[in-house]
Amino acid sequence: MFEKNVKKLNTELRKLKKSGIQNIINGKPYPSSDKTTFENTSPVNGELICQVAKGTEKDIDKAAKAAMKAFKTWRLMPHKERKAILYKVADNIEKYANEIAVLESYDTGQPIRFTKKAAIRGAYNFRYFADKIIDAPNGLSTPDTEHVNFTMKQPIGPVGVITPWNAPFMLSTWKIAPALAAGCTVVHKPAEFSPVTANILSRAAHEAGLPKGVWNTVHGFGESAGKALTEHEDIKAIAFVGETTTGSHIMRQGAATLKRVHFELGGKNPVIVFDDADMDRALDAVVFMKYSLNGERCTSSSRLLLHEDVYDSFIKKLKRRVNSIKVGHPLDPNTEVGPLIHPSHQEKVLSYAKLAKEEGAKVIAGGTKPRNLIEGCYVKPTLVEGLDTSMRLANEEVFGPFLSVFKFKTEEEAIRIANSVRFGLTAYIWTNNTGRAHRLARDVEAGMVWINSQNVRHLPTPFGGVKYSGIGRDGGEYSFDFYMETKNISVAYGTHSIPKLGK
Ligand code: NAD
Repeated sequence: MFEKNVKKLNTELRKLKKSGIQNIINGKPYPSSDKTTFENTSPVNGELICQVAKGTEKDIDKAAKAAMKAFKTWRLMPHKERKAILYKVADNIEKYANEIAVLESYDTGQPIRFTKKAAIRGAYNFRYFADKIIDAPNGLSTPDTEHVNFTMKQPIGPVGVITPWNAPFMLSTWKIAPALAAGCTVVHKPAEFSPVTANILSRAAHEAGLPKGVWNTVHGFGESAGKALTEHEDIKAIAFVGETTTGSHIMRQGAATLKRVHFELGGKNPVIVFDDADMDRALDAVVFMKYSLNGERCTSSSRLLLHEDVYDSFIKKLKRRVNSIKVGHPLDPNTEVGPLIHPSHQEKVLSYAKLAKEEGAKVIAGGTKPRNLIEGCYVKPTLVEGLDTSMRLANEEVFGPFLSVFKFKTEEEAIRIANSVRFGLTAYIWTNNTGRAHRLARDVEAGMVWINSQNVRHLPTPFGGVKYSGIGRDGGEYSFDFYMETKNISVAYGTHSIPKLGK
């Protein structure tokens, strides 16, 4: 299987090296306005994958104008036709599943066991929101004595979608599918570290008959292309997934044009294991939620809070599991952890192992590069114990295969530790005490809580964070709340009195 994946990758790489990656505006490929490009390399070995158009303010302007023009007709397209196109996009995504999986793995370092699910999840996102198109404009009826009032929902206009590098394909579909279903048009700015699959997605959409200008893709850097998108007058809202500090920049940049923003930001999520939990299931979930997707996962449980009575036995088993995680080439189906996105990120993650020692914590697994994988951006799955909430390591997002462990005695202490960070995305609670599970779910500061479970995404449920982890919710109706405006229409029966001035 590994050889087959490598063969497929090489075929795709040959094409990419020749064509490079262009911006897609009005359904057509364009180089950047000043013809500049940037290099996109693989975290597996530093190989140059291809040159990528380095989008400029001019390119963003062209894309935003195309999106504004296309909005006039896309918003009014009969729901059956819009739905048929989005269904076809989903079919095309599945058609390109292998290409997406191998390129996403080589571009991001994510193991193929996860990227091969990206197309399935992406296609599902399109079908799910396509099915909701018919009801998306529905509003409320609020009749009064002299007037009939009713509301309807309408697409907000062209929107900007800015995505990060960790799960670029899936996250792009997750944002763009509801935007298109709502009747918005899109300018997408993919992450500069992982631009490759964005154009496959765009191709899947245009081959499905999506009208030109409805979905535009402009590559480039955050400070230039991204910034210009957030400042553009024609762009009515920004759906952003990325770091908390970038979210603050975007809020400032969008202030002059009163941008509506939806932020999915960083996390430092707790997993709390009480002494009455099912320890085997908890262990599986703890390992999966920190070391899957290279630990570069916003919802990962990066802080393990362990009850003192089960601490020693749990840590012993956990350490064994962490040391047995298979680190390797992301195209190898046996690989569980691949290389991290970029040498700079590899250095950042390793620096936290050093910091752990400086702060008085203890690295009990990993913390270094694996000796047999020197070429790529690999980091050994890392486990650190002896944390307290005053440490930097206990507060900052590491975003790698790096788990920090705290010991607690009481429920109150567990809640205090869980809530001691500025983030509040997810929390995972393991206990068989029903009352305690509900108390924790109530008191822990997070947008999403799982009891006795890892993160299992159900699309109709709200996804999003509190505190510095985000603003707004995605999923089901919640996505439409962001991409649509509610308009009230009031119709008089013709019987009410009208004040007469100047008579
Ligand atoms: P990042 O914030 O560095 O970049 C994300 C995107 O923003 C990129 O496309 C980048 O080019 C763009 N950008 C950067 N500066 C900008 C600016 N001034 N104006 C406009 N755009 C700008 O994030 P990253 O390093 O790519 O991704 C990792 C982060 O994403 C982590 O913090 C992770 O927790 C977060 N994340 C959150 C979720 C969630 O659902 N909450 C999901 C995935 C990732």
